[in-house]
Amino acid sequence: MTQFLTRSLFFSMFIVFRFCSSNGSDEQERTLGIIKPDGISGNYTERIKQVILESGFEISKEMVIQLDEENAANFYAEHSSKSFFTNLIRYMTSGPVLVMVLEKEDAVAHWRDLIGPTNAGKAKITHPHSIRAMCGVDLEKNCVHGSDSHQSAEREIAFFFKEAPSEDAVSQT
Ligand code: ATP
Ligand code: MG
Repeated sequence: MTQFLTRSLFFSMFIVFRFCSSNGSDEQERTLGIIKPDGISGNYTERIKQVILESGFEISKEMVIQLDEENAANFYAEHSSKSFFTNLIRYMTSGPVLVMVLEKEDAVAHWRDLIGPTNAGKAKITHPHSIRAMCGVDLEKNCVHGSDSHQSAEREIAFFFKEAPSEDAVSQT
């Protein structure tokens, strides 16, 4: 009887251990991706989404939105003191954008790798297979956004999407 109880205890512990460790090893992360106005107007949306899906991301939420100046300034508030801020806001409000929540293991780093460096002109030379090399032009017009950290990703996702899937935090126009 004691032997039976001991075996049962070990078996239960083994099941609990496997459950916990498998949950930890393939944990999904979320990041925010945006196809910027030049990406949309240049008809790159389908090509970019194809790269996203072929790279193993799930697009769990998406919406097309026209940002107004206030939205864009709040979203890029960290850059408000930079010399390029006014141009950045003009660029980001120049047409609709496609906002996406992208999910996979290590999503923040993988999406940043996939989009390539900020300067799309340089990306064409140093990262020719990146998304910015495909559809961007220069340091400003670089066609896509990617969150730069796990914390930024969660803040940016909350900026656009409420937790209830059908309600959006920034009202669509
Ligand atoms: P994003 O946040 O859009 O993913 P990023 O993280 O690669 O881009 P940031 O430094 O956060 O780069 O800059 C935000 C955006 O501001 C850039 O994507 C680009 O559109 C614009 N930008 C950045 N630096 C410059 C600059 N020196 N001149 C003009 N525009 C710039
Ligand atoms: Mg950034």
